[in-house]
Amino acid sequence: MTLPTQQLEAGKMPKIDLAVRGALWFGPIKGSGKPSEKGAAAAKSALKGGLSARGQQLKGQLVDVFVAKGKIMALAPAGSLDLRAAKEIDASGLVLLPSLTDVHVHLREPGQEYKEDIASGLGAAAHGGFANLMCMANTRPVNDTASVTEFMLEQARKGWPHGPRLFPIGALTKGLKGQELAPMAELAAAGCKAMSNDGRPVENSELFRRAMEYASDLGMIVIDHCEDPYLAPAAGMNEGEVSSRLGLPAQPDVAEAIQVARDVLLAEYLNVPVHLAHISCEKSVALIRFAKARGVDVTAETCPHYLTLTEDEAAGYSAAAKVSPPLRTRADVDALIDALAEGVVDMLATDHAPHAAHEKEVEFDAAPCGISGLDTALSATWELVRAGRLPFDAFVRAWTTAPCGRFALPVNTFAPGDPADFVLFDQDAAWTVSAQTMHSKSKNTPLLGRSLRGRVAAHFLAGKMVIGGLVSGV
Ligand SMILES: [Zn+2]
Repeated sequence: MTLPTQQLEAGKMPKIDLAVRGALWFGPIKGSGKPSEKGAAAAKSALKGGLSARGQQLKGQLVDVFVAKGKIMALAPAGSLDLRAAKEIDASGLVLLPSLTDVHVHLREPGQEYKEDIASGLGAAAHGGFANLMCMANTRPVNDTASVTEFMLEQARKGWPHGPRLFPIGALTKGLKGQELAPMAELAAAGCKAMSNDGRPVENSELFRRAMEYASDLGMIVIDHCEDPYLAPAAGMNEGEVSSRLGLPAQPDVAEAIQVARDVLLAEYLNVPVHLAHISCEKSVALIRFAKARGVDVTAETCPHYLTLTEDEAAGYSAAAKVSPPLRTRADVDALIDALAEGVVDMLATDHAPHAAHEKEVEFDAAPCGISGLDTALSATWELVRAGRLPFDAFVRAWTTAPCGRFALPVNTFAPGDPADFVLFDQDAAWTVSAQTMHSKSKNTPLLGRSLRGRVAAHFLAGKMVIGGLVSGV
């Protein structure tokens, strides 16, 4: 797509469907041409400090976004392009963000719709600012046949026809049993974007090797839940000071790191890619750093809860904080934030794992592992940006370009021609996490009852407002 100013000069501007005026933007402006003199002056006067922390100011500028045919037409300093649109939105006071992508959710359909279904999960994603979701295969039945994949895609189209978009992940082994490879070619042809045994780690390294080779032949990436099943029997609690005080069974961080080591060694040996799910500890970070330095094709994700919560959450035997891998120590949290800022850990994912209240409101030992994450992910991680812990560009990379690049998903970088998937975020709106404010069917999060800052005021997917109401036209 040519630049709007060039098109203007050539007198062949396409019809503009949507203009979003005066949003606060912290990123670069690409491909929008040179602003007019008037526009440059407007942009200069619009420069303002939007965030400040630890003496640092993150400078933002006010911008206008123009959308034509569902695609970004231009992102330009506010007032610099004198273009009229069929619909105009006043975004003053709101932060502009590209929509997020989450490569790791559990939507529970088919089979456990009382926890979540595809429509309710996509609803939580839409309100949470997500454009793309990759859903894990541990449904009932398991997503190990084309018919399950096709059913998931159909439910997504029916529930949210304009998005968020759903991209199923196929099972790596039949029934996730870790004994026989799933029919990956069939799953890929049906629309699966990656393969994973998430929920049931593959302990047999020979089988895992064959799975990696087979997936790679199909151009698919294996996502591994790294956990040695002998060292880490689904304990959901970190082995350390808190677990010994409570007298609960627990798993050491090496249970994860040992599998990370196996996976990166296999990826190097076989020269195939691997993606590591929900990394939770410093030891894994060190191994990923080592592997990347050796040129291994490895990417890794971590989750908002590993960046913001510690094992202390479980100190009162609170099963809401029971998650696999478990919440770790403050030192692990700090190492993960630094690794994400640096890009050693490439991306964020929620590992959204909804469970019903009656399942979680039992003794710690008996409760299932998992945190419902889609509703709170954006607010929780934006707080790290606001606090100066995570640079804005790392935040955007972790939630958009890194996951979309790795798994070939649509991404908005605000370059002309990109899908017009973006969020208008009210970063100062305070809200309390509760059954009323969460959109997921399941409210299992240690954040329940806590106050967060920042809510999605409006969400546009392919230029269409899927969540709104808090913004007005001009
Ligand atoms: Zn997992």
